[in-house]
Amino acid sequence: MSTSIQVKISGLLARIQHFEQEYAREAGSVQLLAVSKTRSDKDIRQAFEAKQHQFGENYLQEALDKQAKLRTLPLIWHFIGPIQSNKTRLIAENFDWVHSLNRLKIAQRLSEQRPPELPNLKVLIQVNLDAEASKSGVSLASLPQLAITVAALPRLDLVGLMTIPAPTTNTDTQRQIFQQLRQARDNLQKAGLKQCTDLSMGMSADIEAAIAEGATWVRIGTDIFGPRG
Ligand SMILES: *Cc1c(COP(=O)(O)O)cnc(C)c1O
Repeated sequence: MSTSIQVKISGLLARIQHFEQEYAREAGSVQLLAVSKTRSDKDIRQAFEAKQHQFGENYLQEALDKQAKLRTLPLIWHFIGPIQSNKTRLIAENFDWVHSLNRLKIAQRLSEQRPPELPNLKVLIQVNLDAEASKSGVSLASLPQLAITVAALPRLDLVGLMTIPAPTTNTDTQRQIFQQLRQARDNLQKAGLKQCTDLSMGMSADIEAAIAEGATWVRIGTDIFGPRG
């Protein structure tokens, strides 16, 4: 018998597949990142039973506790929350991906602290497209310089860009924002950063707009695990 988490995952995968077809995206080009912040290791196990391997976490200590309990499973861990510089070592040692890179200092520390016996840490630069000073992420203006510098650091692979737009239900606005991230990615590729391919954009409320504009990762929590308590 499948649990509701497993039913939700298969429903989401079907939606993703449908949008891939509808917007002429290659089949399998959009991956589901299950955002498991505040969820138990048991919930993650349920998702794993539905063949979900990629999990996103925002809070370091909480993530480490769950990783310890789930060590026997072949899970891939993405750090997607704000990064304080005193947390970089544990992130470098315990994650496979970081989506929320937004400062050179953090990139340099992750690079120095990534254990050489592990594969390179895959990083995405978080871009702030709403020009709200309160929000995390680099501006479009300062992105190219940061991207070029990060791409040259050892033990990091700059694989793409991430954004968290201000919430809106207007699908045209959603698409305009995501289109800006795609164009920024295309510009970096033209400038020589060919490996910068991924776009981490789209959550429960704007998944369709994100896939239409080229998302390669959609980050979904509530639509898999239910509302956070
Ligand atoms: C929490 C979170 C999500 C998922 O949000 P839901 O509303 O639970 O789907 C996605 N991305 C980031 C960066 C988050 O912090």
